[in-house]
Amino acid sequence: MNYGHPLEFGTFITPGNTPPEVPVQLAVLSDKLGYDIVTFQDHPYQPGFLDTWTLLSWVAARTERIKVSGNVLNLPLRPPAVMARAAASLDLLSHGRFELGLGAGGFWDAVESMGGRKLTPGQGVDALSEAIDVIRAIWDVSDRSVLRYDGTYYQLNGAKRGPAPAHNIPIILGALKPRMLRLTGEKADGWVPSLAYMKPGEFEKSSLAIDEAARNVGREPGDIRRVVNIGGRFSPASAGFLNGPADQWVDDLLPYVIDHGVGTFILASDDVATIERFAAEVISGLRAAVARELPAQPITLSPARSSSVRAKRRDGINYDAIPESLARAAVEPGDAGYSRVQSTYMRGGEPGLVLKAHSVDEVRDALSFVREHPDVPFGVRSGGHGISGRSTNSGGIIIDIGAMNAITVLDEQTRRVRIEAGARWVDVARALDPYGWALSSGDSGGVGVGGLATAGGVGWFGREHGLTIDHLRAVEIVLADGTVLRADDTTNPDLFWAVRGAGANFGIATAFEFEVDEVGEVGFAQLAFDASDLAGFLESWGAAVEAAPRDLTSFVIIGQPRPGQPTVAQVMAVVDSDDPDTIITRLQPLADIAPMLQQQVSLTRYADLMDNTGTADHNGQGDPLARSALIEHITPEFARDAARFIEGGATYFFQIRAVGGAVQDVDPDATAYAHRSANFAVTALGSSRNNTSPRWDTLVKPHAMGLYISFETDQRPERITDAFPPRTLTRLRELKRRYDPTNVFRDNFNITPTV
Ligand SMILES: Cc1cc2nc3c(=O)[nH]c(=O)nc-3n(C[C@H](O)[C@H](O)[C@H](O)COP(=O)(O)OP(=O)(O)OC[C@H]3O[C@@H](n4cnc5c(N)ncnc54)[C@H](O)[C@@H]3O)c2cc1C
Repeated sequence: MNYGHPLEFGTFITPGNTPPEVPVQLAVLSDKLGYDIVTFQDHPYQPGFLDTWTLLSWVAARTERIKVSGNVLNLPLRPPAVMARAAASLDLLSHGRFELGLGAGGFWDAVESMGGRKLTPGQGVDALSEAIDVIRAIWDVSDRSVLRYDGTYYQLNGAKRGPAPAHNIPIILGALKPRMLRLTGEKADGWVPSLAYMKPGEFEKSSLAIDEAARNVGREPGDIRRVVNIGGRFSPASAGFLNGPADQWVDDLLPYVIDHGVGTFILASDDVATIERFAAEVISGLRAAVARELPAQPITLSPARSSSVRAKRRDGINYDAIPESLARAAVEPGDAGYSRVQSTYMRGGEPGLVLKAHSVDEVRDALSFVREHPDVPFGVRSGGHGISGRSTNSGGIIIDIGAMNAITVLDEQTRRVRIEAGARWVDVARALDPYGWALSSGDSGGVGVGGLATAGGVGWFGREHGLTIDHLRAVEIVLADGTVLRADDTTNPDLFWAVRGAGANFGIATAFEFEVDEVGEVGFAQLAFDASDLAGFLESWGAAVEAAPRDLTSFVIIGQPRPGQPTVAQVMAVVDSDDPDTIITRLQPLADIAPMLQQQVSLTRYADLMDNTGTADHNGQGDPLARSALIEHITPEFARDAARFIEGGATYFFQIRAVGGAVQDVDPDATAYAHRSANFAVTALGSSRNNTSPRWDTLVKPHAMGLYISFETDQRPERITDAFPPRTLTRLRELKRRYDPTNVFRDNFNITPTV
């Protein structure tokens, strides 16, 4: 019986009774020699032994590639909830190189001498079974409930889950006796006996007992990797099992692979010569012998998934057909890393598969997989900050290009910069800062380049430097059929036009070339006003912004009204100047609008302004509700109706951004972002579909000339005609027919192709 597990080799090193550096050096040697895993026994009562957890952490930090594991860790002296966290932490810190070899215990008097609880062997097995449940529950951060566990041996009372490990950490049990073998078949991912402790024929019998236990609970025997600790001597002539020349070792071990399905051999030795010789002669010899004996297995880089992980797969996705280039980094619902990729910044999601692409070829492979699933929801993710765009979904496929995030200066003279779509705007600002450059983007450093640079880019330099797309000089894009194109003013100019405002409908933009601006320090103001006369305040703020020179760009935010308290307006403004007098002069007209409650003005760098984000992992929940309007002026009528909308409690976040100035220098027909005459972009976030949208439609929308797609979540078809004026929309539909006739890209303000 062979389970098709790829062959692996490891070392088993004594963690002590030597200078402390010795086991570390042997681990480093194992790494260099190409072993797959280095393991250490764990007897936390043994004098002269290093603590195995500490040693594992040290070794993980000193090695680069090799996996690390206890062989096996002693459960009775380690609370399982704490062990789960230690395991997940080491797995994260070592980038997925940890495996959890675990044992029920033994040496009970020694355990008791260290303050542990003495159990009978049977109780030890039951305790281990509970511990496995506890460990997996701590790792399962997709379950948002607090963790309660009422076992005989372990009780948790409201424990917090997490961290989730970097990968599905296999739990591999050291087992010899029938109850442990049964538990291995029922719950474990691997089995690691030591051949030295087994009688002839016992390995085979025990392995079959595991198979039977697995089948009895609906698992597949192949879910359990067979790992075996071996020891022996290299000697010139054969003197018994694993005592002879290297080719005899190969002959001795071969039946364990062919007939008994062993996937991993762990060499127990602290001898450098033995470790080197095994690596040089036995590993290659055994691989060659197995290749001769077994029918060729398809080469696979994808991690083997247990039946419990496969049970969480979604209908309609052919997981077995995931292209090989993407299989290793693919994440599916049962995977340990799923909680880190399932949701986005604004949205909770439960996609069936996240395909992480690292190159244009991988994007093409991912798209070809998506084309084979025309009825499955499909989203594209760069930075995961989509509001209108749905870069997560339920049960569908996501192509995530966040790892494609390189930023390269192409030409210092012309300030030409190539930026891959997975970069975040904080990274862009940081990369450009040493050159004294900046690229107008948005107000949040965590937003991704891909989503924003295909929609518009309304940011802190809007009035001075225009939209982000106004700096775009070329785009590299993968079309729905996998064609890779470059588009600029002369090559595929139609596509280049469409990408600048409606890019999400046409392909996956993998990289952009921008011409960026010279920017020094800037003035940044945060001013709070008493806006009790809300309509009057909005009108005055709008007039002051329109009258200001272009180097001032300002946003205003009003939150939910609080009974009995004055309405407060938060005004933020960037002045693109490093001259304090200019900054004060520009801000003074804003300061005079209404009684000021607070002010903070500083000279800062754009890169510091954008440094307002955490990690790229997201934890959004629910579905956002955002409405958008582009307006030309803040008229008294608009101000009145906006005040009614806010004061009626329809929004908890109402924002107006200045978008005039340089944005208006661009011809409305030059890009698919056509509402160039707007001076302001208005956004409201709401929590009640019954209140926010109807009141928006009645009070705010009548004043709008259009909307900005990045801030609108309403999916009624007429929103498309708000986003794109008729001439623009007709041209977009025509181009959609040419570039994406089957409407593969449909998750974000879908432009249907002309028929
Ligand atoms: C906190 C926050 C602040 C924001 N501030 C601003 C702001 O100041 N100015 C502004 O203009 N916008 C702002 N936005 C809106 C933002 O620009 C859009 O939501 C944008 O789509 C996010 O880009 P992303 O790559 O992070 O999004 P993702 O969630 O990764 O993608 C969103 C959608 O964009 C499309 N998309 C993503 N990547 C690509 C690609 N490579 N090729 C083609 N299409 C792609 C897809 O349709 C996808 O569904 C903000 C959003 C948030 C959440």
